[in-house]
Amino acid sequence: MNAANVDQAELAKFSALAHRWWDLDGEFAPLHQINPLRLDWIDSISPLSGQRVLDVGCGGGILAEAMARKGAEVLGIDLADKSLKVAQLHALEAEVTGLSYRQVAAEALAAEMPGEFDAVTCMEMLEHVPDPAAIVQACAALVRPGGWVFLSTINRNPKSFLLAIVGAEYMLGLVPRGTHEYARLLRPSELGRFCREAGLDLQHSRGLQYNPLTQRFRLSADTSVNYMVAARKPVPAA
Ligand code: SAH
Repeated sequence: MNAANVDQAELAKFSALAHRWWDLDGEFAPLHQINPLRLDWIDSISPLSGQRVLDVGCGGGILAEAMARKGAEVLGIDLADKSLKVAQLHALEAEVTGLSYRQVAAEALAAEMPGEFDAVTCMEMLEHVPDPAAIVQACAALVRPGGWVFLSTINRNPKSFLLAIVGAEYMLGLVPRGTHEYARLLRPSELGRFCREAGLDLQHSRGLQYNPLTQRFRLSADTSVNYMVAARKPVPAA
């Protein structure tokens, strides 16, 4: 059992900012900015309406709530209690239905609900856990055969160090200092290996590029800094 696959210092960082999840100009502004892009990308690969979707490491529910608005039945999980409370309150206030939240580890839920989701999303979370491969394994166990797993993280190379850490944290102040630790960033090849080892077929990837002049993100083929992948769980041959 992998219940200890959590870094309490990481959880504490997010908990301390929990009241800021829905502040569009606050510490989580970049997540609000990329949200429509990732939402549309997910929806274009695995149409969300009517689907059962799990969002792992949901935080304040920025993506989970948007997927529920698209007609998915969404369960958001995280280990930070404060963030889940904020997510729940926001869903109530916004009167979004088909959305629930639970404080449970992905690995524990995988034992409880294997294969029960049409899609599993795990965004901007893998770089905050001690054993990201185990989270990918859990996502693979939670999705049904034929279903999709969507993952996003930050690449690890000199350019991503400059842009995602020095630039975003120290120069532009886009995210708080200390948000990302270089050693925990993941190369697409590493994430691809985690997917393969979990029995998933990597099928698509997209980069999320930030333009500091327009202060906007856009999707591109360039996965050198922020990027997402879509992997499918194969349907066993009859
Ligand atoms: N996925 C959300 C939030 C990303 S921030 C989004 O993209 O909008 C990273 C989140 O991962 C935080 O909410 C943090 O509490 C959560 N997290 C960190 N370690 C975790 C773990 N071991 N299990 C579940 N969630 C975790």
